[in-house]
Amino acid sequence: MKYLLVLAVVLIAFYIWRNNRVTQRGDAPRAPTPPSNVPAIMVACLECGTHLPDTEAVRGRVGAYCSVEHQRQHEGTAN
Ligand SMILES: [Zn+2]
Repeated sequence: MKYLLVLAVVLIAFYIWRNNRVTQRGDAPRAPTPPSNVPAIMVACLECGTHLPDTEAVRGRVGAYCSVEHQRQHEGTAN
């Protein structure tokens, strides 16, 4: 009788666990990884070498910079 009770508890636990998994999969069935999981392309500042995301870099004539100041220092122009 004791074993029957244990078996019942295990079955109930398994049933709840399976239900949770089904509802989780129902939200996004094998969805591709969102863009936020894609590693950002990193570029190095030509002046100081600081690495920063390509989207945040300042674009100069010859490359990327961490700031407008470093772009000016490296390219030697005041724009
Ligand atoms: Zn820099």
